Amino acid sequence: MRIKEEIGMNNSTGILMVEAIELIKRYDNIYLVSHVQPDGDNIGSTLALAKAIEKFKGGIKVIKVDDIPSDYQFLPGIDMIKNYDINEPIDLLISLDSSDLNRLGLGKEFARKAKRVINIDHHITNDNFGDINIVSPSSAATGEIVYEFIKKMAVDIDKDIATCLYTAISTDTGSFIYSNTTYKTHLIVAELLKVGIDVETININLYQNRSMARTKLFIDSMNSLETYLEGKVGVIAVTQEMLKAYDAKMEDTEGLISFVRGIDSIEVACLLKEIDKNEVKVSLRSKKRIDVSRICNKFNGGGHIRAAGCTINERLPVTKDIILEEILMNFR
Ligand code: 5GP
Ligand code: MN
Repeated sequence: MRIKEEIGMNNSTGILMVEAIELIKRYDNIYLVSHVQPDGDNIGSTLALAKAIEKFKGGIKVIKVDDIPSDYQFLPGIDMIKNYDINEPIDLLISLDSSDLNRLGLGKEFARKAKRVINIDHHITNDNFGDINIVSPSSAATGEIVYEFIKKMAVDIDKDIATCLYTAISTDTGSFIYSNTTYKTHLIVAELLKVGIDVETININLYQNRSMARTKLFIDSMNSLETYLEGKVGVIAVTQEMLKAYDAKMEDTEGLISFVRGIDSIEVACLLKEIDKNEVKVSLRSKKRIDVSRICNKFNGGGHIRAAGCTINERLPVTKDIILEEILMNFR
């Protein structure tokens, strides 16, 4: 009993959740939406809530806005994420793990059309774009907030829901090692394990399932590592040419940047992903000192203190100069 109280969110978050659940009860045409370049927290939280709403009242739809990385194809309910016609009636849109509407890609149009938008997220840079904003930057993953939300709905957390929530929380905490991991994270995950999920299989799917293509891309891009400031800053790049050479996809860069941050001298790791000739997706990670969400915010991106991203519409070498200058300034 005491443990349950400790997991709970603060009062105002609880009130917002009740209001959001009222909207879910009231409306018929309810959509959940994933975000562009979806990660484990986004997909896991979305599927968990989709399954819970399905049990709560049925009829939920999940809009696909980008390809789902192969890492998450094992998740129960993955086929619920589909393409939907913007001309269908839409009352309520629920967004998870997105700090702004642009992250929703074509989901932004659905948000514009919806009568109400519920925004559930844990990014410090969230701009409160919803009618109801359940934003908790102290939560390690959106999956933690969704756990609370499903509890508030009084829906039983079954193995499928628990598998999705475990995936969300495990991936966003780097298997419970990042600084966002709290005692609450462990209390929630303990509750998920109690449900009897197959943690071994989930973890093999998530972390011991790397393709040879991804492995070769990993080795090649590590060869591109450049360091600055006596090894405090590390930059790697993945080009379209490299992807072609190994028959890999951009999602195969997963894990690369953590590896760079893992170097002893590194404080800031930077991964440059060449999406197009004039479009580079920048990922930043820091270890202890630098707030990388502030850096990415300057380029209309966002994220967390230790993990953030943005897109810069320049050629790869130009992007590298621009972002490096900003990173180096933060060390002064
Ligand atoms: P990643 O580097 O893995 O793409 O993202 C790291 C963190 O920053 C994630 O929490 C992600 O949601 C956030 N993030 C990445 N790119 C963007 C972006 O373009 N805009 C915003 N607002 N957040 C981003
Ligand atoms: Mn997240």
